[in-house]
Amino acid sequence: MPTKPLSQLVKHNTSYQERVTLFADILLPVPVPQHYTYRVPYQWNELIQIGQRVIAQFGPKKILTGVVVAVHENPPKAHEAKYLLDILDEQPIINTVQLSLFEWMASYYMCAEGQVLQVALPSGLKLSSQSRIQIHPEYGQEANPYPLDDQESVLLQALIGDGALDYTAVAGILSAKNVHKIIKSLLAKNAIILFEEVKEKYQPKKERRVRLTLSHTSAEALEAQFEQLHKKPKQTEILLKYLQQVPVLKEKDINQQGFSKTKLLSGEISPSSLKTLVKKGVLEEFEVVVSRFQDLDSLTADEHEIVLTAGQCQARDAILEGFERKQTVLFHGITGSGKTEIYIDLINSVLTSGAQVLYLLPEIALTTQIVRRLQKIFGNSMGIYHSRFSDNERVEVWRGILEGKFSFIVGVRSAVFLPFDNLGLIIVDEEHELSYKQFDPAPRYHARDVALVLARLHHSKTLLGSATPSMESYYHARHGKYSMVSLDERYRKVALPEYKLIDTRKEHLKKQMKGIFTTELVTTLEEVLKKNQQAIIFQNRRGYAPYLQCQACAHIPQCPNCAVTLTYHLHYNQLRCHYCGYKQKMTNICSQCESNDLDLVGFGTEKIEEDLKHLFPEARIQRMDLDTTRRKYSYQQIIDQFERGNIDILIGTQMVSKGLDFDKVDLVGVLDIDRAMHFPDFRSHERAFQLITQVGGRAGRRSGKGQVLVQTSNVKHQLLQLICDHNYEQFYQREIQERSKFLYPPFVRLIRLTVKSPDQELGYRASQELAKRLVLGLGKSRVLGPQEPVISKLRNLYLMELYIKLEKSKGTMDMIKLNLSKEMIKLTSNAAFRSVRVIPDVDPY
Ligand code: ADP
Ligand code: ZN
Ligand code: ZN
Repeated sequence: MPTKPLSQLVKHNTSYQERVTLFADILLPVPVPQHYTYRVPYQWNELIQIGQRVIAQFGPKKILTGVVVAVHENPPKAHEAKYLLDILDEQPIINTVQLSLFEWMASYYMCAEGQVLQVALPSGLKLSSQSRIQIHPEYGQEANPYPLDDQESVLLQALIGDGALDYTAVAGILSAKNVHKIIKSLLAKNAIILFEEVKEKYQPKKERRVRLTLSHTSAEALEAQFEQLHKKPKQTEILLKYLQQVPVLKEKDINQQGFSKTKLLSGEISPSSLKTLVKKGVLEEFEVVVSRFQDLDSLTADEHEIVLTAGQCQARDAILEGFERKQTVLFHGITGSGKTEIYIDLINSVLTSGAQVLYLLPEIALTTQIVRRLQKIFGNSMGIYHSRFSDNERVEVWRGILEGKFSFIVGVRSAVFLPFDNLGLIIVDEEHELSYKQFDPAPRYHARDVALVLARLHHSKTLLGSATPSMESYYHARHGKYSMVSLDERYRKVALPEYKLIDTRKEHLKKQMKGIFTTELVTTLEEVLKKNQQAIIFQNRRGYAPYLQCQACAHIPQCPNCAVTLTYHLHYNQLRCHYCGYKQKMTNICSQCESNDLDLVGFGTEKIEEDLKHLFPEARIQRMDLDTTRRKYSYQQIIDQFERGNIDILIGTQMVSKGLDFDKVDLVGVLDIDRAMHFPDFRSHERAFQLITQVGGRAGRRSGKGQVLVQTSNVKHQLLQLICDHNYEQFYQREIQERSKFLYPPFVRLIRLTVKSPDQELGYRASQELAKRLVLGLGKSRVLGPQEPVISKLRNLYLMELYIKLEKSKGTMDMIKLNLSKEMIKLTSNAAFRSVRVIPDVDPY
């Protein structure tokens, strides 16, 4: 194996005396706290920029995609820098504001910047896992490389030719059974490296199209052509259909864009005749890159203009005024007040000024109505960033922003990571929503809070909107940190729905209950159906029954991996765990005592559906929960059907509460709210208030005759009374006093440390140990626990929780986080606790 020619082929092994030697700090998508410094091959000195993606070797055999965060001339002191292997981008795809945001997130949410990067970049911009090999970039630089045998030389030569090969290709070249051994040997000799596929995963969507060849676009040529085709009806038909779709004679240039081949061939059109026309040179086929959002694109712009009402204008002006004083405005507008219309007005004026707008929505609200409304107005300048979209679609949005194609993005929480360079406004709609919080994996961030920081980095503004603001935001607005604007009339002065509490205990005593429904709810439903109106029945629990119980021995089947009961699902005839996905066939025999006297206890949406179908056999009933909306468009389809009046009763989990706007809903029924109210969590009242107000807010949005019936065994409960009275202000006052008295957010910050262990006893001891040390460092009053959480085992790991309460000064916060990190590392580096993990969650929910 001649080493000299090989070494010359390695790009950067040419002389580079008298040139500046550059180094680049690289952020790699791995959970390590620091950046790594690499040497820049000199021929890239002019090319390398902050924010480009690069390929770098990490550890002995790993190749990763990282991002350049700094370029300088300082070699690392501790070790010799490796060369960067490649630069993937000509222009940066991440800007410095984003890098600052990643840095802030890592520090605030106690994780590594690499973990932020990992979540921020769509995977189409990262490595794929397919392993490939290439020549080691430094191979041949050493004076005496290890000698290679024949097979190894063959492979190396092939790699010189092809650059990189995957395993299968290597096997083809060597036609040897021991490919793996050869690769391993070459690895050991430092002749090659293994890496994961770095080729862009992103594939633009292409469409095959057909058009007339240039010589056939004139009227004369076409006429002559039709004459020739006189006896060829099929070909004539194709040509006619094409001209119908693409009126070339009216407008010659229009031929250029052609027409979709698939669409042209739809119906009775023969593909072979099309082929003939292409062969004859009348038509030609070509390929174009099309947007993945085309189906949405093709919606035509809506003509009718929305004119803000006087109240809405006032609110808008107050928001603008608020922005003059504060960076953030909280917009407290009741359900149906037309917040969306005001957002649209604001978005329009920011876009006109040339700045970008980010409109954040909770996960589920994004799949439907609002997006359609926005699409009609903003058309192609609007990008949609949603987790149900494929990765290719996300890459398209990312690139679309870089290229200036999208100046307006509507998206879910991860849209805060997009490469905005000139943000003028961020709107966080339904800012109280739980789905803004990412639970797993790190960074465990809250998109509303990240949005506030992002806006600050851009010197722009944030508008937080909600009918039921979070305690935190309302508190900040009341205390002058944000401006506050309220809108407390519905559009067209439509009345808010009338709430009524129905006493299930009373009906039970009088034996009036019809299964799980009160007579009052059933009677009202009847009336609604009679009037051809619609109803929504809300129950925040899917499946048929939350558990199965043996009447003989009281045994309840549990998930083998988690400390939760298994939910019965009628549709699958299975018992399922909602936490880990475990499932088993439904059983009629108790596994403990073999009795066959088993009872289903409680009810979920499936049971409600069954019972309602029984009570109202004529009604069209649809269920909307996680189980009926797994496919990409199924949620949207159900909403469409309901909107068109093809569904009379919609049963749903909290999915039905998110920003939906219907004309004909006269009744919302809420079942079993007691459980939500009494959940042992300091936010449970806040959540119950938000949930019932939001779901109730779907009623009577046009007619003003909406009713909300809430079944409860607790009619006297003050919280329920406040909900019925639409009295957010008093609810807030009551709740904030509790929070202040017992020191909960917004008065302090919380950090939750979850100790996870495969062994219960070990986890218990580890959490005790951690608590003890934290108390020593932080003082007793700042450390709560350890205690078992409500669900004490998940996916075969036993959990213990500690809460750290801390004052809200930045100095204290940083000091405490430092202390926590130190103690967490200390604990897990203790050999006895090696299998234990501690997971910090800052501002847990
Ligand atoms: P919110 O988000 O505050 O619950 P929406 O923005 O969904 O309320 O508005 C409720 C309904 O009233 C929507 O159907 C909306 O189109 C309509 N609407 C609100 N304001 C106007 C307006 N100025 N002109 C016409 N329709 C309006
Ligand atoms: Zn039993
Ligand atoms: Zn489970």
